[in-house]
Amino acid sequence: MDNKYLSEMLFPNIKKTPEDIEKQYPPRELPQDAKVTRFAPSPTGFVHFGGLFPSMAAERLAHQSGGVFYLRIEDTDAKREVPGAAEALINTLATYSIEFDEGAVLNESGKIADKGMYGPYRQSQRAEIYQVYAKKLVSEGKAYPCFSTEEELELIHQADKKAELKNTDWLSEAEAKKEDMLKARNISLEEAETHIKANHPFVLRILAKSDPDKKVKFTDLIKGAVEFPENDEDFVLLKSDGIPTYHFAHVIDDHLMGTTHVIRGEEWLPSLPKHLQLFEYLGFKPPKYMHIAQIMKLDENGNKKKLSKRDMGANMDDYTKMGYAPEAVCEYIMTLLNSNYEEWHMQNPDKSYKEFPFSIKKMSVSGCLFDFNKLNDVSKNVISRMDAENVTQKVTEWALKYDAEFGKILNSDKAYAQKIFAIGRGGKKPRKDLATWSDAKPYMGFFYDEYFEYEDAYPTDADKNDIIATLEKFKVSYNERDDMNEWFEKVKKISDDLGYASDMKAYKQTPDAFRGNVADISMFIRVAITGKLNAPDLYTVMQIMGRERCMKRIDMMIDKLKNSEI
Ligand code: GLU
Repeated sequence: MDNKYLSEMLFPNIKKTPEDIEKQYPPRELPQDAKVTRFAPSPTGFVHFGGLFPSMAAERLAHQSGGVFYLRIEDTDAKREVPGAAEALINTLATYSIEFDEGAVLNESGKIADKGMYGPYRQSQRAEIYQVYAKKLVSEGKAYPCFSTEEELELIHQADKKAELKNTDWLSEAEAKKEDMLKARNISLEEAETHIKANHPFVLRILAKSDPDKKVKFTDLIKGAVEFPENDEDFVLLKSDGIPTYHFAHVIDDHLMGTTHVIRGEEWLPSLPKHLQLFEYLGFKPPKYMHIAQIMKLDENGNKKKLSKRDMGANMDDYTKMGYAPEAVCEYIMTLLNSNYEEWHMQNPDKSYKEFPFSIKKMSVSGCLFDFNKLNDVSKNVISRMDAENVTQKVTEWALKYDAEFGKILNSDKAYAQKIFAIGRGGKKPRKDLATWSDAKPYMGFFYDEYFEYEDAYPTDADKNDIIATLEKFKVSYNERDDMNEWFEKVKKISDDLGYASDMKAYKQTPDAFRGNVADISMFIRVAITGKLNAPDLYTVMQIMGRERCMKRIDMMIDKLKNSEI
């Protein structure tokens, strides 16, 4: 069969040659060992945690080596594409400070544009490029058209009508008909010509080497040595609309864009023989591969399962809504990506994770376990190191979006809010009260009359009359100009007056000699003022709240107790 002739008939509009294309994508001028990596999401929904995860590894490897990290939008599946998803994912990645050197970007009017010399960075804009290589493969007898019969056309038609039916549904039907397939594989030039003249749609298939007894050996940088039977499947390169499948687009794009390391989910590992075959057919050098294990979570029964799309924490937008600081999420991801990150971070608490020497060797071969508790721990640390101004601003921004009333209240007196967030900040052992911005209201709402409530009751063994006496004495003695020592001396004096030990040592020696101790007296005051058994340092709290508010609360509590409400 005259393959050249066939290729001309199939792609009459393709005038460019692979050489023309190669000229547009010259090798990158980068230092030796610089890595070129990419994030290549499909705009079919939100950014999944399992997508951000490899993209951070890719970003680190590129930038750590003086290389390039770029964003390619893999939008070849129009049926699965969600309008606006590409724009949303560019915004989400920016939120997480995933810095791309080139790729799809948003221009001033919010539309997707290209930045960089190796574009277009949206696969939907690259149809011609794929077809140039498709034509070459046909002309070399390495790919062939598979025309649809009338019956198959009807199936396609139905698939198109029913959005939930995927392209693959009818393909597999067709594939079931082995004989037809074999016929397609051995199509004669005359037959092909008849189909083409009748304008019958075709998919382009690779003519696979069929020696599954032969093995392809490959070293994955994470998984190590892997071995697969050689590909013997005539998989589809171009769909009937001339748009490539993932396999074909991956090989061409990563070659032309100079990717040195493909970092992707392990679900692609079984497709590797297909890709390697394509690299060979096209005469391209394959990149290095890193297949990242899927993120797991524990289900209710403690069994590991895949973090699925519907799980809380899968959608990166969930974190924004829950009020996680993006840098906390990134830092958490680092702990999952590199087993020695935490140790490094403990030794370098003030350094950004971007200064950590990220290493492929320390990556987990099996699935990392996603765990909110761990994320919260990391997050509390991250927030505890932020200054009060920053925290105030972040909490306010979050609240204005997700809890408008709280946001307004915070905004109405920024200085007051900032004083509250400054409690216990800055020292060697900062307080770790907030894991998310949404923790702020339960933590500090009591500072505001709007949110003040008696969250905790006095312990049942506390003597009501002692509480009333404490509050009355405290009210009389309180002077907002006292320093912390003077303040505490007065609390101690109340203890002594009421038969509570002001000296803890003495109390420990003979607890029965006292009605309680100074901690109980402080607690009586604390619950009245904050409504909580546990709150930040009471002296500081009162300084911030101011005399009037504090005294009002004490009066309220005395009233409550006297009216036996408590
Ligand atoms: N578009 C593919 C996906 O979203 C990309 C895989 C890759 O990184 O090559 O799974």
